[in-house]
Amino acid sequence: MEKLTDRDQKCIWHPLTQHKTAKPPIGITKAKGALIWDDKGKAYIDGIASWYTAMYGHCNERITSAISEQMQQLDFVMFSGFTHEPAVQLAEELLPLLPGNQAKLFFNDNGSTAIEAAIKMSIQYHHNKDQKRDTIIAFEDGFHGDTFGAMSASGISSYNGPFEDFLLKVVRIPVPTEENSEEVLKQLEVLITTHACCSFVFEPLVQGAAGMKFHSPTGLDQLIAKCQEADILCIADEIMTGFGKTGKNFASDYLKNDPDIICLSKALTAGIFPLSITSCNQKVFDAFLSNEVSKGFFHAHTYSAHPLGCAAALAGLELLQSMEIKESQKYIAQQHQEFVNRVQHHPKVKNARAIGVILAVDLDLDMDRYGSVRDKLYDFFMERGVNLRPLGNTIYTLPPYVISKEQLQQVYDAMEGALEIV
Ligand SMILES: *Cc1c(COP(=O)(O)O)cnc(C)c1O
Repeated sequence: MEKLTDRDQKCIWHPLTQHKTAKPPIGITKAKGALIWDDKGKAYIDGIASWYTAMYGHCNERITSAISEQMQQLDFVMFSGFTHEPAVQLAEELLPLLPGNQAKLFFNDNGSTAIEAAIKMSIQYHHNKDQKRDTIIAFEDGFHGDTFGAMSASGISSYNGPFEDFLLKVVRIPVPTEENSEEVLKQLEVLITTHACCSFVFEPLVQGAAGMKFHSPTGLDQLIAKCQEADILCIADEIMTGFGKTGKNFASDYLKNDPDIICLSKALTAGIFPLSITSCNQKVFDAFLSNEVSKGFFHAHTYSAHPLGCAAALAGLELLQSMEIKESQKYIAQQHQEFVNRVQHHPKVKNARAIGVILAVDLDLDMDRYGSVRDKLYDFFMERGVNLRPLGNTIYTLPPYVISKEQLQQVYDAMEGALEIV
């Protein structure tokens, strides 16, 4: 049999890949817990839980058996005109865990489409009230996905180049820190008076793709309050931060002001199934109620509220609330803090930080060398059997909650080792 990678290269176009220069991908044959195995039998610790999804570990039997049971009963049915037990039960169990005011769940099938629906909701919310509001407020360096609306809100320009002229109207503010939050608030006030703003889209507390950058919950709270005064809908993108990553169930739990809309995906289905949710408060939902059919939200994806995804999500929620997972979240968070204390004064470390199970280290690199150093770091980690993907000059880990103490140590060893090769 021809090698998996060679067959791949003949017929597959990979995401985020320049095929002319990229190395062929590694064939993966098996996964269990915090480990994935390649086709030569080598094991890797999944140090970023396969893009923050597989938080309860790969092939977790609680999740796989919930899906398998659901498959025998109802595989799939369209969600327009029909409903089903897994979706209703998921809504009943998730809503009480979400920040205070959330009232209704709208289902989509991935993170970008959850954001897309949220942005469309915010535009139509004002349209239904006979207002044309056409501008989105977003943070510099935010990331919200790769479809047009989500891409518009994203501020990482290296992804958006060819599409810049085709995007929605967006105005940007810096993330609030302890130092600049009054200044950012003033910038926001000006934008609100000079633009017709429909929504404010943000990753609460941690900007993932920007390199796990943290910002101030107090500052964010002030911005939300200011937007809500002007009836600008606040959309929290919790696609990365949701389900326990930051030490609370949701990063929005650190805020006093509840967002109007929350977007969830990634760990929602414990890393097994593409599914996402755009949840909203009663105010948003009510703005779509009318005797005019066209004031409803005419937006759907074929596989919305997939019963198998909902079954996985229900099993995931049970795990999220278990003592076992709560304790390992706490253990990882403590170990991360110790790691920060240990490396923060290292000459190659510009900044080290941790919140919940998210740990990031900015390397003191001269950026000309960045391209080659990034690949060198990635190869260094993979050789040591740890899947970590540097972002810019930042190395980070966001391990599955089920990672063992020894495996976690192996991740730290790889990260500390990396400081010696840059
Ligand atoms: C991954 C991610 C998205 C996009 O989700 P996809 O499922 O990849 O479309 C949006 N926002 C944040 C914060 C993310 O981490």
